[in-house]
Amino acid sequence: MGTDSVEDYRYLAARRRLIETIRSRGIEDLDLLRLFDEVPRHRFLPEGIRHRAYEDAPLPIGYGQTASQPSLQAYVLHVLQPGPDDKILEIGTGSGFLTALLARMGDRVYSVERVRELSTRARKVLDEMGFPNIALLVGDGTIGWRKYAPYDVMTVAAASPSVPSPLVDQLAPGGRLVLPVGSRQEQDLVLVTRDEDGTVHEGTVQERCTFVPLLGKYGWSEEGS
Ligand code: SAH
Repeated sequence: MGTDSVEDYRYLAARRRLIETIRSRGIEDLDLLRLFDEVPRHRFLPEGIRHRAYEDAPLPIGYGQTASQPSLQAYVLHVLQPGPDDKILEIGTGSGFLTALLARMGDRVYSVERVRELSTRARKVLDEMGFPNIALLVGDGTIGWRKYAPYDVMTVAAASPSVPSPLVDQLAPGGRLVLPVGSRQEQDLVLVTRDEDGTVHEGTVQERCTFVPLLGKYGWSEEGS
């Protein structure tokens, strides 16, 4: 996977330390930990920040946005349990790193990003790494991506004042959605599931996290709170 193996080699030890950190935070799922070893996060980051790629921290990716903290992403994946037959919707492509992890776990990934430049940059890296099962869209992800609905797994990487109703509508029976819900400053991670009979359940899986705001029709307005 990928060609710049000298650079990849340089990051190997740091990557192993990151995986130990994720593990020490309670994620014991070996298949999931292995993915963090196989998908090189540094390749998804702007050059100036690459040396910090394997810190367990959110990192700036330009346009006022951040790549999410790896241990938090691992936790979200642990809750969502994407499987090989799952159709996945991601809102907030950002760097594309989580998109790549999702593509390794599921059948197909549909990912929506509102900042065109970020989507373009993610497309380039994902193409270089050779992912055949990812479709990217530039637009407002709070309305979902109706064309390919329903989805078995959904993840939103930006904070919303409430659960956007179009996303719940596009959740398949047996489907699960994780997203941060709360104020602009602080959120809880919420899991929304739909039973096989169609009933929807909602509950908090982790308190107090901080994500960039979800801006759009069913999120925050562009102007401020
Ligand atoms: N998982 C990404 C997280 C990026 S931060 C990563 O680790 O790189 C969240 C992203 O959500 C930002 O890129 C932001 O531009 C995007 N975003 C915010 N509101 C959005 C919306 N309504 N639709 C799609 N993307 C949105």
